[in-house]
Amino acid sequence: SKALGYNNFCLYDNGMKQDYRAQLTLGGALRKAIEEEQFELYYQPKIRLSDELTVGAEALIRWIHPEHGMIPPDKFIPIAEETGLILPLGEWVIKRACHQLKEWREAGHPPISLSVNLSGRQFMQSDLVEMVRATLAETGVDPKYLELELTESMLMADAQQTIEKLHGFRKLGLTLSIDDFGTGYSSLAYLKKFPIQTLKIDRSFVSDLGIDADDDAIVKATIAMANSLNLKVIAEGVESRSQIDVLNDYQCEEVQGYLFAKPMNNIDFSSYLSAQSQN
Ligand code: C2E
Ligand code: CA
Ligand code: CA
Ligand code: CA
Repeated sequence: SKALGYNNFCLYDNGMKQDYRAQLTLGGALRKAIEEEQFELYYQPKIRLSDELTVGAEALIRWIHPEHGMIPPDKFIPIAEETGLILPLGEWVIKRACHQLKEWREAGHPPISLSVNLSGRQFMQSDLVEMVRATLAETGVDPKYLELELTESMLMADAQQTIEKLHGFRKLGLTLSIDDFGTGYSSLAYLKKFPIQTLKIDRSFVSDLGIDADDDAIVKATIAMANSLNLKVIAEGVESRSQIDVLNDYQCEEVQGYLFAKPMNNIDFSSYLSAQSQN
């Protein structure tokens, strides 16, 4: 398996769960990284298909390790979850995202929304709604520009408490989105019980659009039902024009993917926004 070479620990694609010592060491490195803020948010544009303009972005965390360089979230979010470090890390993400929205506004960029990913353990945190409220108040950001990306499994865990929490966010004025839609066990009809505004169709259904008839059928039906339930649909992982043609046919509203842009650091993303508003 692929391994990143480390002084005193290794990050493996497979088999890491069994290596308790490696996890302890990585947990220690993560703890230090949080104290020293060795993280950055990268931003990937969300494109509206009707005019192909950027109407939002997704914040994606990167660990910029002083010796080992950039470490992708798949390598450390699971350990952050297991060790509980996801709570301070997730709080950092929300604060950084709100400050970023404030910086974009102050730089005079046309307003766009910014979504952040929540982890399951973070979503269970009892004071999460209050923390988000306080951060919005502190930064003066209009809550309608902050979006939370949740997964189906997070919503299914404890239905009643979940619904209350979602309503708490809605009362603040946030937008709520279901990430990786279609990979969990929920149905659209069931999701209607939750105050959700957006569905993100998982990349695994998008990659073979126009090639795999099953994927075409799934995506078409998902978009049609979502549209009739007044949910916005965004397709993720769009890499080709032929996928865009299919998604336009099915009346998908927004897309995200390498075809338009990869996630960028704040400097590159700011240049990207400036270039777009000059067109
Ligand atoms: P996700 O939320 O499903 O994010 C989409 C992932 O797909 C990102 O990977 C993004 O860079 C990648 N992607 C976007 N467009 C394309 C494309 O056209 N082709 C391909 N092949 N990939 C594309 P990334 O940044 O490595 O993030 C991986 C996962 O890590 C995320 O999946 C999310 O679950 C998690 N994650 C990222 N940032 C955070 C965070 O701040 N908090 C939490 N809790 N999780 C995060
Ligand atoms: Ca996401
Ligand atoms: Ca996703
Ligand atoms: Ca397939």
